[in-house]
Amino acid sequence: MDCPKCDSVMENVTYHGVTVDRCTQCKGIWFPGIEHKELKQIKGSEVIDIGSEELGKEYDDLKDVHCPECDAVMERVADKFQPHIHFEVCLHGHGVFFDAGEFRDFKEETFSDFIKSLTMAVKKKKK
Ligand SMILES: [Zn+2]
Repeated sequence: MDCPKCDSVMENVTYHGVTVDRCTQCKGIWFPGIEHKELKQIKGSEVIDIGSEELGKEYDDLKDVHCPECDAVMERVADKFQPHIHFEVCLHGHGVFFDAGEFRDFKEETFSDFIKSLTMAVKKKKK
């Protein structure tokens, strides 16, 4: 599979039984389904995102990104919870593409949310 952003070769990366494709050049990650949601729940999975944020930003604004599976132009969407994160989604359901550093960012939210829910639970107890 070639990278939808820079056309370089992608390599398989497996973390705790979940396999994704990572670009050997721009370090963007292709999740062929809901793997990004699965991996978000797995502790330590941010290690698969090895590229720098600066590198990811270079590719973030790229237009007309084609799905590596069906070649249709993907839609650039903002994450529901972290609107500063933009990723590409194949409208035919083939997967999503995160630029380097974006998955780490995407994953961090779970942790701060966890802290938030924790403080909320404590507050509730005190009442
Ligand atoms: Zn690439």
